[in-house]
Amino acid sequence: MRIARFSIDGNVAFGAVEDGPDGPVLDIIKGIPYADFELSGTKVPLKGVRLLPPVLPNKVVAIGRNYAEHAAELGNEVPEVPVAFFKPTTSVIGHGDPIEYPSFSQELHHEAELAVVIGRMCREVPRERVKDVVFGYTCANDVTARDVQRREAQWARAKGFDTSCPLGPWVVTDLDPSDLGVQCTVNGEQRQLGRTGDMVRSIEDLIVHITEAMTLLPGDVVLTGTPAGVGPLNVGDEVAVTIEGIGTLTNKVIKRG
Ligand code: MG
Repeated sequence: MRIARFSIDGNVAFGAVEDGPDGPVLDIIKGIPYADFELSGTKVPLKGVRLLPPVLPNKVVAIGRNYAEHAAELGNEVPEVPVAFFKPTTSVIGHGDPIEYPSFSQELHHEAELAVVIGRMCREVPRERVKDVVFGYTCANDVTARDVQRREAQWARAKGFDTSCPLGPWVVTDLDPSDLGVQCTVNGEQRQLGRTGDMVRSIEDLIVHITEAMTLLPGDVVLTGTPAGVGPLNVGDEVAVTIEGIGTLTNKVIKRG
């Protein structure tokens, strides 16, 4: 099932994306998607709504350098212990929302990533239970001020500025994430093409590692790292992250007003 969050006539709702005779429609959800919910049967055309970030996470935990080729392209080793960092909730935007180029950077990069959406409160999750705590998957762009990342020991500003975490267009449940194509294009030109099967640490490894330290809550998001091919974004560019079985997350880069 594809579950989107959207606004229509000033109201916010969740809906299941279905194919209709005149294009995709949203079947409005009664209840909260992570818990028990049912479809209302009330359907609205997808093209008449504004998609919002598909989740409102309490936190976004991101993993760095989880694809060997990407670590190498920036002159880094694959770390012995996964590098984990936070992106704040204020960095999250949805499909179609603008990425604002930060004033303190001259080198903005795209990073296409598979995002895992957590479905239930969990801590110290054993490997074999990881699938039980995952609600679904969506596309993410871990937008990074690369020059700031090199300059500053912690990545809070480089990877945490407002609009640096596009998520969407929707969450897909019932997806096997073990070997999905991950692509990034800028203005239609391919920049990144990888497969989740090439992750150094699997999703199971990452959830075990993160929940050893902290509780994950329903709606929390884990970013799983980016494949090789990261590169610059400029004002006016349109960046698109496409993940097999999910869809395409598109955002335009604008100057911060
Ligand atoms: Mg990243």
